[in-house]
Amino acid sequence: MRITEAVKRYSHEKLLICNDESSGLTAFIAIHDTTLGPACGGVRIWPYEREEDAITDVLRLSRAMTYKSAAAGLSLGGGKGLIMADSHTEKTDRLLRAFGRCVESLGGRYVTTEDVGMKPEDLIVIAEETRHVVGLPTSHGGSGDTSPLTGLGVYMGMKAAAKSVWGSDSLEGRTVAMQGFGNVGTQTAHYLVKEGAKLIVADIYQQSRDKALSIGASVVAPDDIYDVDCDIFSPCALGGTLNDETIPRLRSSIVAGGANNQLLEEKHGEALRKRGILYAPDYIINAGGIIQVACEIEGICDPRKSKEMTERIFDTTERVIKMSIDEDLPTSAAADRLAQRRLDAARRQKSAVAAD
Ligand code: NAD
Repeated sequence: MRITEAVKRYSHEKLLICNDESSGLTAFIAIHDTTLGPACGGVRIWPYEREEDAITDVLRLSRAMTYKSAAAGLSLGGGKGLIMADSHTEKTDRLLRAFGRCVESLGGRYVTTEDVGMKPEDLIVIAEETRHVVGLPTSHGGSGDTSPLTGLGVYMGMKAAAKSVWGSDSLEGRTVAMQGFGNVGTQTAHYLVKEGAKLIVADIYQQSRDKALSIGASVVAPDDIYDVDCDIFSPCALGGTLNDETIPRLRSSIVAGGANNQLLEEKHGEALRKRGILYAPDYIINAGGIIQVACEIEGICDPRKSKEMTERIFDTTERVIKMSIDEDLPTSAAADRLAQRRLDAARRQKSAVAAD
């Protein structure tokens, strides 16, 4: 893969390569689009085997952040950070601080927060080197862990999809097969269990499996989760898990989860539609966390306001489903259209102001 080609493919503004030999940091920061505001998105720590995969991921994830914020009506652009390391064995304060310096070098064009492999306390370490961090614990002046609101939004998206498929938004007695039981999976499960849904969980990490068992979920092997007989399949781990190999195996009526970039390729939105599975688009329903940090950036850290805005994910999901029916599109394409319309309007407004 030629890096310049990859960057140009989705018109990214910038891809920064961070190298710090003393801490062993290799990281990437991708800024996709800052039309609506500073590029905001979490930093992920994952032991990618190939740099190429890490770069593809950071580019795709940052683009999804642009669309997520645009569709949620926020004044933020899309960005993402990615540290190539194992969060269980290689995440050191030196590494996190080196990443913080890298964020600082962008002067606020990229604002970082939590993602896979990160804990709120890690953000405190990053914040020793840069001001451009959101989602810090409330004891450190931030709005706190973003995963509770992300979980709430995913739950709202599931309910909107349920209403469309079954005529009722109740999830009582429904079976949800959840792939990944980390921060977001746990928070989503909290609402599902409360409403009386049945949970089947797969996770590659023993501690997460134990956590699932402790709340009464049953656990299956990671690769078996696609074959589970269920009402809702909920990807809450990494992206790309909806693909040519897995979609034919799914036995659910709905796919709705918190993971970013669930579709390996755009065509997989259509593949789900063809199978009669309603896909609640990932970035529409997992926007709770970005809604929370957008409020923080605007200086209105009011948890009630962020919660209300997150609850409205129900309405946005319904709107996307309606658009997909009216315009005969997969829901993933309808979501892109919704986000793109807002971006185009903002660009037109900017160029009109510049021309004045
Ligand atoms: P996390 O690291 O807390 O949890 C991820 C879990 O998935 C871990 O327990 C991991 O062991 C498990 N996992 C990884 N690969 C797996 C596989 N192949 N099969 C089964 N389990 C697997 O991360 P998180 O914060 O919960 O994020 C989960 C997803 O949600 C990510 O895609 C992230 O980008 C997205 N997301 C997170 C937030 C947030 O607020 N944290 C917001 C929006 C989107």
